[in-house]
Amino acid sequence: MKAFLDHVGIAISDLEAALTFYREALGLEIEVSEEVASQRVRAHFLEAGAAKLELLESTASDSAIARYIAKRGPGLHHIALRVDDIDAALQHLAARGVKLVDERPRPGAEGALVAFIHPSSAHGVLVELKQPAPWRAQLAVTRHALGDFELIALNDGVFRLDGGAMFGVVPKVLWEKKTPADDRNRIQLAMRPLVIRGNRTMIVDAGVGDKEAVRGDAKFLEQFAIDRTWNLDRALAAAGLTVEDIDIVLATHLHFDHAGGFTERDPSGRVRPRFPRAQYVVRRGEWDDATHPTERNRASYFADNYVPLADAGVLQLVDDDQTIMPGVTVRRTGGHTMHHQLVWIESGGKSAAFVADLIPTVAHLALPWIMGYDLYPLETLSAKKRLLPEVVERRTLVFFEHDPVVTAGYIVEQGGRLRVEPAL
Ligand SMILES: [Zn+2]
Ligand SMILES: [Zn+2]
Repeated sequence: MKAFLDHVGIAISDLEAALTFYREALGLEIEVSEEVASQRVRAHFLEAGAAKLELLESTASDSAIARYIAKRGPGLHHIALRVDDIDAALQHLAARGVKLVDERPRPGAEGALVAFIHPSSAHGVLVELKQPAPWRAQLAVTRHALGDFELIALNDGVFRLDGGAMFGVVPKVLWEKKTPADDRNRIQLAMRPLVIRGNRTMIVDAGVGDKEAVRGDAKFLEQFAIDRTWNLDRALAAAGLTVEDIDIVLATHLHFDHAGGFTERDPSGRVRPRFPRAQYVVRRGEWDDATHPTERNRASYFADNYVPLADAGVLQLVDDDQTIMPGVTVRRTGGHTMHHQLVWIESGGKSAAFVADLIPTVAHLALPWIMGYDLYPLETLSAKKRLLPEVVERRTLVFFEHDPVVTAGYIVEQGGRLRVEPAL
């Protein structure tokens, strides 16, 4: 096991005073501040050479940091060691009789996975193990305020699809400048469901889920290079949510990278709805196509992802463009599938759009950059032509479900060309 010093955690009771010392007097730069909902703490990282200092400010009177300060006063709290594989590290330590506070990793700051070793095993020091997020940290969970809504982009991990199929008629010499391919010609893609929190809580799409992993379908996982180190359960926890909090699940369409997480296997192996309290809203045309696949689209539709919803009586089919909850409407785009839809969100004079596979990544912004997977590419083209002027004009926050780097941004026009101003 290899471990590197990542940071030293310091419990503070007065942020202003602490900053006066660490920032003003010592001259250290604050690199990032982040609320870690699962630990009810706000973490302020200061750059200090190869390692960092983490100032820990409690956000609730009964948090671990608040209790620590009540007992011992502010001061040194823990040291954190960075490891490549936190699951392997925990197994290694447990096998040697080391006492662990966390037997399994949990979400920490900066999208990392963390676990603590008990001080009794570490000679009086609380030791944190940390596995950094595999891609830009803030992509694990990002939050945006929009009028009365909070929009939370979650993450169900990353996967890979053939670059040629992702860019249709665009030659590789052009697309590989934007998105490098691996040795099997595949490009990296994210799966980012969106939570919309208002009076009710909705999730749009739910990633690929883990039924194939549970079943041990190594071929499927390998073919698409699915890496769910960061997955929807961890992302929900990092956002302070559980599957129980979701009232409505809305599908843009039923392809496996969007609907796989709608269902899960129970301990007996039976497939059941993943969100126990939710109604699932699906467009009727998409439902009909997904339940009657053809030779052309069969590889994307797995009945296990959605048929159990009908069996459980939690399926609600909608026929046309309409409001799903106040401020949230669906619009058919067609193109990718005949009944593919985007989600339009409006509140307090502001708007946001979750465009799913209409513009899956920032690289798909230019009009002819259309996926080869699309069943009706000319319809995709018209839908992009309708949408883009509107989102530019209204300064709509656009979410890119599959972009591995840019979660969301504003599309701006400059010299007749469109580009994205990332929102984070
Ligand atoms: Zn799709
Ligand atoms: Zn997709």
